[in-house]
This record gives sequence, C-alpha cells and structure tokens, in this order.
Amino acid sequence: MIRVSEIFGPTVQGEGALIGLPTVFVRTGGCDYRCTWCDTLYAVLPEQSSEWRRMNSDEILNEVKKHTDGNPILVTLSGGNPAMHDLEPLLDKGKREDFTFALETQGSIPRKWFRKLDWLFLSPKGPSSSEAVDWEKFDKCVAESVGPKLVLKVTVFNEQDYDFAKSTAERYYDIPMYLQVGNPNFLPNNKMLGADRKSEDVLMRQYRLLLDWVFRDKWFSVTVLPQLHVMVWGNERAH
Ligand code: SF4
Repeated sequence: MIRVSEIFGPTVQGEGALIGLPTVFVRTGGCDYRCTWCDTLYAVLPEQSSEWRRMNSDEILNEVKKHTDGNPILVTLSGGNPAMHDLEPLLDKGKREDFTFALETQGSIPRKWFRKLDWLFLSPKGPSSSEAVDWEKFDKCVAESVGPKLVLKVTVFNEQDYDFAKSTAERYYDIPMYLQVGNPNFLPNNKMLGADRKSEDVLMRQYRLLLDWVFRDKWFSVTVLPQLHVMVWGNERAH
C-alpha cells in the first residue's frame, strides 16, 4: 500500500523540462528530508498523516483515470519523496494503458524501478534548504536512470544555492540542468507575503536576479524557469 497525500488534475506541470504539459499529480506522503522552505509540508510531516490515504496501485490508477475520463496523460509522481514507496506496480499497470510517468525526487533513495519511468527529475537541495546531499546515493540514483530521460533541477533562493547549482552542473556535465526560482512565500519567518497575488511580483523579481547571474557567468547551457503554477494560481494548494 502506498501513502497518498493527494491526487489532482488535470493541471499543467509548472516546473522543469515538462513545463506547460497537462498532467495529473500523484503526491505521496512522507519524506526523508525537512527542507526549511518546503512548500508541501502537508505531504511530509507525520503529524499530517491522518490526511493521507493508503492506496494500492489499482486504486491510484483508477483515481487518475477519473480525472481524465480514462484518457492517458502524463502522471507526475511527487511528494514528499515518492522514492520512499514501491511504485513499480503502478508504473507497470499505467504504462500498459499508455500513461506516461515522471517522478520528482531529491535523489536520496535509489530505486531499481527508476528505469521504468519516462522522466526522472533529480532535484538536489541547495544550502538554503538546510539539508545536505548524500552524493553517493545521488550517484546511485543517476546510475539507475538508464531508461528515463534524466534532468536535474535546482531551486534557487540565494547566491549560495546558485553556486551549488553550478557545481552540480559541472559534476553532471552531460545531464540537462534546470534552475527554478524558489518561492519566497515558503521561506521561514517570511512576514512579507501572504497567500496572495503579490507573490508573483516577488517571484518575477527573483527570476530577473537569477537571469542576471546566469548571463553574468555566460552559463548558456542552463534553462531558467519561474514557477508557472504560482504565476497562474498564486499559492493555492492542489493546482
Ligand atoms: S525534499 Fe521536497 S518534499 Fe521533502 S522536505 Fe524537501 S522540499 Fe519538501
């Protein structure tokens, strides 16, 4: 049984290499990290687990199909850390019915079944998260991704995160790197913003700053993105 925090969609993927693509999100419950700026703590903290459901792969796929009237779609497996769960049966069943799967994880738990994914987004967390990457485990996650298209994504809140992203890109020079502006609404002790539309203005300011750094360094192989879903829906949950 898989702990599921929420299943929602169709919506658009708001981040990374598949930005703008229609998708249904399956958000699993539980995470081995506690990032300071986590925007999905409701899918992380054990004290939120009374809101999670225990579902098998048939139940998850059936619920995804309810959101699409049975039509195949990109299923985004997110969390929490979805790699904590055995998602292989879900991948097997879904792919038999022409669903495609992308999984987003910080790269702390390598899984053999990663190779059955269509896309694997590895998102190592920079210094502002207060988590430290275990590069040995991260390397194993990269090694398991012989089937899916693999991309790296780093969320950037400050220049230390940016430097971390650059050194990560140098370490994995043959894997495409996506930079994403961190959502300041989720920074701890942020009194500046409520869950309102003003967050987009701050996000855009951060985005321009991030572009300045990238252009300054002539880093022309990286893709720099804002968070599309925040621009469209602000900080409302389940979009
Ligand atoms: S890894 Fe992701 S889900 Fe887990 S605490 Fe960090 S931001 Fe939240």
